[in-house]
Amino acid sequence: MRVLIVEDEPTIASQLAAALGSAGYAVDRADNGIDAHVLGSNEPVDAVILDLGLPQLDGLTVLKKWRAAGRTMPVLILTARDNWHEKVAGIDAGADDYLAKPFHMEELLARLRALIRRAGGHASAELTCGEVLLDTRAARVSVGGVMLTLTSHEYRVLNYLMHHPGQIVSRSDLIEHIYAQDFDRDSNTVEVFIARLRKKLPDGAIETVRGLGYRLVGP
Ligand code: CA
Repeated sequence: MRVLIVEDEPTIASQLAAALGSAGYAVDRADNGIDAHVLGSNEPVDAVILDLGLPQLDGLTVLKKWRAAGRTMPVLILTARDNWHEKVAGIDAGADDYLAKPFHMEELLARLRALIRRAGGHASAELTCGEVLLDTRAARVSVGGVMLTLTSHEYRVLNYLMHHPGQIVSRSDLIEHIYAQDFDRDSNTVEVFIARLRKKLPDGAIETVRGLGYRLVGP
């Protein structure tokens, strides 16, 4: 899952990027409204954390432009404390949730997980497919109750597949959702991650659909 962080305060932006990175997300960053608008319009991000007070173009305007252009990714806005009309304006502009600054990172991560799973139509923080259970809260995966050891990229691939069970996911979809934009992407690595995951998951859990991509299948 790929998240765009839009925040002009370097310290908060770095803390957010570090926390999201350890939680298993690929992270794109923008520190002004113009870059944010371009990234959010062109990159298939799974969610956005959007500060409203931004240089060049304010967050509310960026959000309105995305929504007017039909961009539907979940957006969590960061607002100034005690500024209730900012929250109202943000929600009216198409924000899905808000957090007032200063916020607790754990709360932000929980709200982000909830936004992403609701966008995918999932009710629970635990995603299951047959014996495979992925806990999005702890970024952990188990099979039949036995914990798996996954690298961060193996986790990202499986997390994306688990959010789209039974659907064909192309290799380019996977690349776009497991790597941030500035990452040096090598499409062959997806095959390597899939091959490694297959060794760790039950037989037949990840199907190859010839010419189209991969599909996570239940028992
Ligand atoms: Ca700001």
